[in-house]
Amino acid sequence: VEGSKGGFRITLRGGEMVEAAHVVMAIGDQGELRKVGVPGDDLPCVQYQLDDPEAFAGETIVVIGGGDSAIENAVALARQNRVYIAYRRAEWARAKSGNITAVEKAAQGDSLDILFSTSPERIEPGRIILRTPEGSREIAIDRVIARLGGIPPRGFLERCGIRFPADRNARIPELSVTYEANVEGLYVIGAPAGAPVIKQCMNQGYEVIETISGHPVEPADQPILAEKLAGLPGRPSVDEALVLIRDQLPLFDELTTLQLREFLLDSDTHLLFRGEPVTRTGGRAGTILLIGDGIVQLDLTDKSGATQTVTRTTGDFIGDVGFTSGQRRTSNVRAATDCVLIEMARRSVIKLLASSARARSIFERTIIIRQLQDSLSGDLSEADLQPLIDTAEVRRFAAGDLLIREGTTDDQNIYFIRSGSVTISSSADGRETVFGVEPAGSIVGEMALLYNRPRTADVTASVDTEALLIDGAAFKPFLDARPDLRVKIDQAVHDRVLRGVAYQQDPWRGAVADFLVEQGIGEATNALLIDESLCVRCDNCEVACAETHDGIARLDREAGPTFRQLHVPVSCRHCENPHCMADCPPNALHRDEKGEVWIDKTCIGCGNCSENCPYGVIRMAVPAPKKPGLLQWLLFGRGSGPGEDKLAGKAKKAGAGGGDLPKKAMKCDLCRGTRGGPACVRACPTGAAIRISPNDYFRSMTEIPS
Ligand SMILES: Cc1cc2nc3c(=O)[nH]c(=O)nc-3n(C[C@H](O)[C@H](O)[C@H](O)COP(=O)(O)OP(=O)(O)OC[C@H]3O[C@@H](n4cnc5c(N)ncnc54)[C@H](O)[C@@H]3O)c2cc1C
Ligand code: SF4
Ligand code: SF4
Repeated sequence: VEGSKGGFRITLRGGEMVEAAHVVMAIGDQGELRKVGVPGDDLPCVQYQLDDPEAFAGETIVVIGGGDSAIENAVALARQNRVYIAYRRAEWARAKSGNITAVEKAAQGDSLDILFSTSPERIEPGRIILRTPEGSREIAIDRVIARLGGIPPRGFLERCGIRFPADRNARIPELSVTYEANVEGLYVIGAPAGAPVIKQCMNQGYEVIETISGHPVEPADQPILAEKLAGLPGRPSVDEALVLIRDQLPLFDELTTLQLREFLLDSDTHLLFRGEPVTRTGGRAGTILLIGDGIVQLDLTDKSGATQTVTRTTGDFIGDVGFTSGQRRTSNVRAATDCVLIEMARRSVIKLLASSARARSIFERTIIIRQLQDSLSGDLSEADLQPLIDTAEVRRFAAGDLLIREGTTDDQNIYFIRSGSVTISSSADGRETVFGVEPAGSIVGEMALLYNRPRTADVTASVDTEALLIDGAAFKPFLDARPDLRVKIDQAVHDRVLRGVAYQQDPWRGAVADFLVEQGIGEATNALLIDESLCVRCDNCEVACAETHDGIARLDREAGPTFRQLHVPVSCRHCENPHCMADCPPNALHRDEKGEVWIDKTCIGCGNCSENCPYGVIRMAVPAPKKPGLLQWLLFGRGSGPGEDKLAGKAKKAGAGGGDLPKKAMKCDLCRGTRGGPACVRACPTGAAIRISPNDYFRSMTEIPS
């Protein structure tokens, strides 16, 4: 698209030219699907999407790709076809561990072969020629399914002259409130303009056409925004309130009015009177509260149990440390004056930090200060902490990455664990012994610095972990000047050493901790475990789960790994920082104060959460029709009868059936709203099924011996 208002020229793929006075880009955010890029890649036997694997049976299919979509397609197709999955790399590099396990398990059967280091050379009707490490290989095929991802539309929009924010990750261009880009007369609507669901896309289209036709209309969401902002002091109009909010909240400084409107639509506004409670200690909602107006008071409790009161005023925010670590809130907060608070959901905060460099930098600096205060002492001011802040560096570690290597002396850096968790272990005697698992909020690496000795253990990220690295050379004088703090840290080290002794005296504890960490339990807040020595395989847990959730079980008892008698079934573990919540278009995923992650009825079945969950616990399934009552079953034979629930639950659990009916995301919600807690645990006749908070569990395993 070239030109500007009144004189656009649009060149079509065939070379034809169209002229227009205005252009509205409504091209979605899927981008173009990446093609195989070899002769024959557009033959009818080559497809780039797969809606229903059950639509094909008895065929020979080559799946190309090594990401989650390729693997999921290959595994699903292999149930009723002969499948080869061809991947250009020598090992899986991009897929979730659950999918890797599934494809490797499927490859042990006769219907699926994994071809690593293999790329297509050409495709012809009925055959594909592959380039393999052993040379050319021909496979007779019915179909090729290439799942090579998409090319995001940003590049195309930029080539049309549309400007994006400097951040290269930004997906939404700079747009006016009428969706006009920097090129006059060129509009962008729908998903690339940030609309998450169809009705918003349609509203944007309507507003743009009316604007172009010279009949500007009020945005369709104006009444919703007016309701959210009603009651603000001085009763400003929506436009006045937007100006006021941007002036008061530095986090919103850089946002366009359109972006600000969208963030506020996604958030909740709370008007609180002086003295009213804001949040309580122990909650895990993971939201951030921005102080639009007023003062709030926080009673902070540090690790030693000491409480201290601090205030935060207009423009500031609270909930940031809990948001980052996923740990429980450590303060009671109340309104010290009448207050206006804006509560941003997890997805909105992630979106805000991705779209504004200024918001990111304010947030980052604030988190560093508050994490240091939280871990060391709430009495420390920003000025006190400045020497540490100057050296602070945020480091990200993938599960299994080493933060510290035992025996080394090359640095004396200290790590403040910000999210995730780390495993402390030693391989000094030739075999690995685990000494403990330290959650977010812990300090590690201080022993080498304080006692001037080589590193005493390996410290490894148990799950994806973020840590604040502080240079030992800055920390030492900082601590030397504060003897009280030194005593506190010495005590923490002493306790950790004793906990390590407890592990050493009973190596079984370390082995169990190691197994649980490998299963990603290090980031769980509430996980289901089964003691196999007590389990009688009655499946009551699954049946009870299905009964509580309209006939569809949210756990798979048999699936999942086992270590000695400890089994981890496939079921949501309500992560500290739920990956599934990162990108839900209608914001249908929520987290309660107690930590349970649940999905509301507005789910549109897009599958983002299922793709984002690393543990494969979200099923996309057709919601079951409501189960008829016993009388209906007796008189008319409707629905499943007593004793048939288990089969129904099993079939639906696998997501089978449903044809073209729309699917929705389904997962464990800890039976929220049900009296007595999770049905699986209540239904277990032997007490084999337990739900644990891993932090408490790891702590109970390391009780300090007297
Ligand atoms: C599985 C799934 C289920 C969903 N369910 C729901 C639901 O129930 N309710 C709901 O509200 N939302 C739902 N959504 C979200 C919804 O699909 C999107 O919000 C909506 O489709 C976005 O509309 P759009 O017009 O921006 O883009 P799209 O619907 O993607 O349309 C863009 C169109 O532009 C075409 N195009 C792309 N590039 C070009 C180009 N260069 N030239 C010409 N044409 C081009 C594309 O081929 C496409 O036809 C769902 C999403 C998914 C993935
Ligand atoms: S669905 Fe997956 S990512 Fe989300 S909380 Fe559960 S286990 Fe974690
Ligand atoms: S499938 Fe998941 S991400 Fe998509 S709308 Fe439903 S809950 Fe949200």
